[in-house]
Amino acid sequence: MWAMHLDQFPRVKLCHRPTPLERMERLSEHLGGPQLFVKRDDCTGLAVGGNKTRKLEFLMAEAIEQGANTVVTIGGVQSNHCRQTTAAAAKLGLKCELVLPHLSRYCSESYETGGNLFLDRLLGAEVHIAADVEAAAIVSRDVMSQIRKRGDVPFFIPAGGSTATGALGYVDAAWELARQAAEQQLRVDHLVITTGSCTTHAGLIVGFESIAQSEAFDCDPSVIGISVYHPREKALATVRQKVRETAQLVGLEADLDDQVLVRDDYLGSGYGEPTDAMIEAVTLAARYEGLLLDPVYTGKTFSGLVDLVRQGFFDSSENVLFWHTGGTPALFVYRDAFEPSPAPDEPAERFA
Ligand SMILES: *Cc1c(COP(=O)(O)O)cnc(C)c1O
Repeated sequence: MWAMHLDQFPRVKLCHRPTPLERMERLSEHLGGPQLFVKRDDCTGLAVGGNKTRKLEFLMAEAIEQGANTVVTIGGVQSNHCRQTTAAAAKLGLKCELVLPHLSRYCSESYETGGNLFLDRLLGAEVHIAADVEAAAIVSRDVMSQIRKRGDVPFFIPAGGSTATGALGYVDAAWELARQAAEQQLRVDHLVITTGSCTTHAGLIVGFESIAQSEAFDCDPSVIGISVYHPREKALATVRQKVRETAQLVGLEADLDDQVLVRDDYLGSGYGEPTDAMIEAVTLAARYEGLLLDPVYTGKTFSGLVDLVRQGFFDSSENVLFWHTGGTPALFVYRDAFEPSPAPDEPAERFA
């Protein structure tokens, strides 16, 4: 029998845990399908929260263990990961440098200054803007060598905190959900999650398999990833690769390829580019649940969930959990995408 060995990995405390598990009562009724629930990782507590905080508990501990005093990471100009990394560094007394390539074709007046980028600077990051991903790789190598030259010790965190160490945050989160669901006597049949750099998804797959093998809880939902970055085949291959790396790190033996489910139908024309369905989904969550989603990740994912409910993909007796991974600050730089502003008495569906 496989036991949970997460205790062997160094970890710092950054995250409000457990995050709430809530019922979406009005939206379930409105959509008329299965019972919908939300796991509130937008409430992880560090500088507006989000899923990267769980990863950073393990990644920052690794940085400190290696004697680093400066973290360097990469992300899009409106990266939630970079904002949470900067906040974690501030809290732990480390310096932080960010390399921010342009990843999305979306632009607005505040995209280059507001939202997450404003918070990065407020939280004390040194920011290096790069033209694209190739340029960012060159800039980050240069930043690393400059840091060494001045006598500091850098620790590099890949984009999205997407290493097996980062994924440990979501192996642990699967256990957290299983415990909560048991307490609430809730059977989770399906779980819908955003697939971006793929380690949140991968960590959950490994987490639920470790729960199944240990027989600690009866919690084995199908995990449906909605890709907001890669096309389907690339996302599938990346999640599977991250699952293998994470399983190896925790010492779990299983072939989990078939458990990886990814849809890319809700990506639209590209990463960070608004879709009508996203606008509708964000508006629905706001009006029926008072819940703020984001335009880049959770809004598109939620549009997938809404569409699957409408298609009759889920049985009405099933329980479906939406894992909210955060991203709230980006909402403010996408205001233009929501123009003209929805009138308060217009149904959200009208905007689709
Ligand atoms: C980074 C991010 C994701 C995707 O998580 P990955 O582990 O990169 O797949 C989802 N939602 C939000 C809000 C994010 O910032």
